[in-house]
Amino acid sequence: MPFTADVAVIGGGVIGLALADAWLARNPSSSVVVLDKEDKLAEHASGRNSGVLHAGFYYAPDSLKAQLTRQGNERLRAFCAERGVEVRETGKVVVTRSDSERPALQELFRRGAANGVELEMIDEDQLRELEPLARTCGSALWSPTTAVASPAAVVMALADRVRERGGDIRLGTRVIGAGPGWVTTDRDGRCSVGHIINAAGLYADTVAHWFGVGEEYRMLPFKGLYWYGSWEPGRLQRHVYPVPDPRNPFLGVHLTVTVDGRAKIGPTAIPSLWREDYGGVGGFSLGETWDIARTYPSFLGSSHHDVPGLIRTELPKYSRKHLVRQSQSLVPSVRPADFTTKGRPGVRAQLLNVREGKLEMDFVVRPGQRSTHVLNAVSPAWTSSLAVAEYVVERIVV
Ligand SMILES: Cc1cc2nc3c(=O)[nH]c(=O)nc-3n(C[C@H](O)[C@H](O)[C@H](O)COP(=O)(O)OP(=O)(O)OC[C@H]3O[C@@H](n4cnc5c(N)ncnc54)[C@H](O)[C@@H]3O)c2cc1C
Repeated sequence: MPFTADVAVIGGGVIGLALADAWLARNPSSSVVVLDKEDKLAEHASGRNSGVLHAGFYYAPDSLKAQLTRQGNERLRAFCAERGVEVRETGKVVVTRSDSERPALQELFRRGAANGVELEMIDEDQLRELEPLARTCGSALWSPTTAVASPAAVVMALADRVRERGGDIRLGTRVIGAGPGWVTTDRDGRCSVGHIINAAGLYADTVAHWFGVGEEYRMLPFKGLYWYGSWEPGRLQRHVYPVPDPRNPFLGVHLTVTVDGRAKIGPTAIPSLWREDYGGVGGFSLGETWDIARTYPSFLGSSHHDVPGLIRTELPKYSRKHLVRQSQSLVPSVRPADFTTKGRPGVRAQLLNVREGKLEMDFVVRPGQRSTHVLNAVSPAWTSSLAVAEYVVERIVV
């Protein structure tokens, strides 16, 4: 049955739900509908991530990520406290694997200070006290405000708040077309709506293109694989990360602790051949593979990133043993025999600017005709979601 609404949000991931929530908080008498093609919430990135509440020190100080991650961390903590969602205060250490990584570690420390994030440069003895299993070369960074929660629990709690504020979340409803003032879904046909918010994750570029927005962008999906350890809960106490390669938007393979204390290795950033490429042939689309294949030459020839290095280092990570051995440089006691339980993989909705051959490093928010488009809601957009939503909603003019 066709419906009408003042605001229609395409995508019921953490970003779409946070946007609906923020809109309703400001406009309580407004009618808001959230449309998601899946029958259940948290089926894509918002339920398939590490659940790390990032602190916000990685990002260039003038970026949206820098501004919205520190705020998002605070807001998500407050939200979890309000709704009874457990947060585990793990903190995080960033370690170096050789002396050559020390300048990059210093740069992260500087960025943290510029972004207003609490950080400490520590030595090997201090590291041993904080996380006895981790190793570093001389110094490491300690981030006390990094934490972890269950990503799906946050999504469910947010959906509850949206419903309590009067929002209508329609699952099993795929948007198959949209334009200024209308959406067409596979269940309802063509519906009249006021403003459309595009929070379609891996399909955000497709939806934006319907409005003639973000034509320079194509989605380049990267798969994140995880392996859980058989260690007793609590053996690893802190998240342990390497110094990332600043030329790429990914943080490198790391060890995280889940909210229930389990150790987990991953995620990878392996190029995917279609968008919802979680394993097997589920979600396979020849059209998407063709589009991605056509997009790759612009990425492969990029001078902005170390593409050959990325492919050379990421593809072998399909091998569990290889992946686990890579993380021995962070935590030497890790053994392939201990990390054999596969985690739920996720796919990063990473945008490529095809004109510049450049992976977009920051969140991208674009206005369109009677619409707003949240593009490139990549990590740490789960952490930043409530701050991103405030930022976006403040700028919507209807
Ligand atoms: C492996 C991995 C690890 C990560 N780790 C972290 C982390 O530790 N911390 C952190 O802060 N962030 C992390 N992230 C990033 C975080 O998961 C994302 O930034 C966040 O989940 C994005 O939310 P979203 O709502 O945009 O996307 P999604 O959760 O993908 O939601 C988009 C929704 O849109 C729906 N949709 C798409 N097209 C349509 C359509 N046509 N009609 C109807 N519905 C549609 C989909 O079904 C989906 O539910 C990670 C991401 C990945 C992949």
